Formats: sequence, structure tokens, C-alpha cells
Amino acid sequence: MKNKIKKYATIGTIAIMGLLLANTAVEKTVTVISEADTSCIGVYSGGDKTAGYNDESYRVAEKYLSDDEIYAEIQESAYSTSVIETMINDGHLLGYVDQLKAEGWIPQDFTPAGSKSSSTTQTETKAEPPADNQASSSETKEQPKTETKTETKTETKAEPTQEEIDAAWEETERTEATCTEDGKIVYTNSITGDTKEESIPAAGHDYEVTETADATCTEDGTNTYTCKVCGDTYEEAIPATGHTEGEWKVTKEAGLFSTGSKEVTCEKCGEVLDAEEIPQTCPLPLAVVIGVVVAVVVIIGAIVVLVRRRKNI
Ligand SMILES: [Zn+2]
Ligand SMILES: [Zn+2]
Repeated sequence: MKNKIKKYATIGTIAIMGLLLANTAVEKTVTVISEADTSCIGVYSGGDKTAGYNDESYRVAEKYLSDDEIYAEIQESAYSTSVIETMINDGHLLGYVDQLKAEGWIPQDFTPAGSKSSSTTQTETKAEPPADNQASSSETKEQPKTETKTETKTETKAEPTQEEIDAAWEETERTEATCTEDGKIVYTNSITGDTKEESIPAAGHDYEVTETADATCTEDGTNTYTCKVCGDTYEEAIPATGHTEGEWKVTKEAGLFSTGSKEVTCEKCGEVLDAEEIPQTCPLPLAVVIGVVVAVVVIIGAIVVLVRRRKNI
């Protein structure tokens, strides 16, 4: 561009007339460039150039110049390393990154900002002025410069807010709980793709008694419980009740010289629980009574015999 400046400065009136025919983009470009400090600053290798004569106006250059033209200005020490990096991060000069590294304008490890997804499409139709600086030969060749620039930027969609993420959870899978095993619900976030699980606690069996075997006095019974949900069963013992003792009953009356008997039974099952003997009603044994009777008869007989003998005498 310095060449252009020099040429524009020397072209004189005809050149100005030519520029009047040019579009506004070119006019602005010329204005910017004419304001720039044209002092040349040395280039240091390794991307450590600290100042460029056109640093202040790099945004204007971004707006109105093509990558080719900006690159040409860089070659003339127009921009410092940090400004060149900024322009690359703004989406310019992307085709020149390797070249700029090789030439030492930017550090070898510089990486264009990846977060910005912007693409710049430039369509330029221009009639370049001839390279020589002689006004006499360029007067007739100076042609209006037409520059059309179309810029399309595709900004990365704004990050979703936390509220939107929180509202994006949807149930995508469900396993119902059984009586004994936990179920689960799987939620998927439609924005982030994350998943999370929620446990459904096992409900436990819901048993009812479906069969009963009653206990007896001596045998245990059982209650059978069945789960109304899954049919699982278990048995629970009913303890034996034990006998219930009733009244004593005489089964045989006692005689004068014979024993009787009595017993007690279970009121429920009738089993004889105990039995006892009833003594005879006479307090003396039969043999004693017989002995006494025999003795009395003998004594009476003896008395009768003795009385008869005295009468006969
Ligand atoms: Zn169950
Ligand atoms: Zn009994």
C-alpha cells in the first residue's frame, strides 16, 4: 500500500479525479493510509514485533482491505505482532497464518482463537494500478477501483442458560420396582445429553392370610400368607392350645366293700387327663368283718351248749 500512497501523492489532479469516481471504500482506505505513520520499524523474528506504524488503524484495515492487502501492509511493518494476532482472531488473514509464522511476524506457537466460529467471504473485483510509480505512464492507466466485500459471520449459538438446562431433563427409561427389587427412572438432558438415575424403592410384599390349619390341643396349626402382588407365600405356625381341664366325673360308684373310680377329661378334645380310685364305703376290710361275725357265732353257740347242760343236770 505504500506504493499506492506514493503513487497517489504524485499522481496529482488526474489521480484525484480518478478517485472521485471510485467507490467510498477506496476513498476511506486512502484516508486511513494517509493518516498512518509511515516510519518504518524493524521486524524482529519470532513474533516479538512491538509496534507498527498502522497499529492504531487496524480496524479500518480489517473493514476495508482484503487479506492480500493487509498482508502486503504487514510486509511493510504496518502492524505489531499483537495487532496481527488480533486480526487473525477476528477472522482475517487465516490463509496467511503459516506464512506469517515462517516470516517471524507471529510466534510459532500462536493458534487462531478456536472459539470463534466466523467465516469471512470476500469477493473482490479490482483493477490494480500498475506497479511503476511514474505519473506520466500511469495517468491513463488509472482506473476506478471497485471493491465488493461480502462478509458472512456465523456466530456460535448463545450458550443455554442454567435454567434452560435444568428444564431440559426428560424421562427416557423406567423400570418399575417389584416387591423386593428397586426400580429406576432414567432422565436424559436434551441439551447436554447427560443422564441421571432416580431409584424407585421396592414396595415390599403385601401379604394376606389365604389358608389356615387350626391348631389342636396338642398339635400346632399354620397360617399360610400369600402376597397379593407377586404370589409369594410363607407359613406361620399357630401354637397348640393345650388341653382345657373339665370337672371330675365318677365313672364307677364305690360299694360297701368295693372301690369306685372317677376321671377328669379335656373339655375340647375329650381326652382323659387324670383318673382316681374311690375307696369302699365300709371302713373295715371284709375279712375282719367275717372274723368278728364267726367269733360272735362261736361264742353264742358255746353259751347255748352250756345252758342246756345245766338244765339236764
Ligand atoms: Zn410380593
Ligand atoms: Zn384337649
